[in-house]
Amino acid sequence: MFESRGCELCGYSSHHHNPAMPVALSKLACHEIYNGASGRSLSLDKPYALLVLCQFCNQHLMTDKGLWPESRQLCLLKLRSPARYDLGAYNKLVNPRAPNRTTQSDVDAWKGSIPPDLTQLPSWKQLRE
Ligand SMILES: [Zn+2]
Repeated sequence: MFESRGCELCGYSSHHHNPAMPVALSKLACHEIYNGASGRSLSLDKPYALLVLCQFCNQHLMTDKGLWPESRQLCLLKLRSPARYDLGAYNKLVNPRAPNRTTQSDVDAWKGSIPPDLTQLPSWKQLRE
């Protein structure tokens, strides 16, 4: 559907899996940002409404909507895959009558809270050198 390097939250994939977990948990899947009643069928072919996540992040982190409201998920998409980010199209998909349902400032407010891509962090060994 579209290219992705790895999980858009942690950075791992089955080709480069999290060494702390079984490989199966680093397998990638599509996650629908909008999880309303028709979210899944609406989002499947819409790159701006999806995050590519590993099984671990999809099943254990992104499931907490209190921690990861839509605006924060959209901020993650914007930072990790800016080419797919399209807030106007996303709002239109979710509710064509509410073009400002989520605003750019709602999304940008999360900027400081997006965790780093773990695969880009220096390893413990590198830190000691
Ligand atoms: Zn992940």
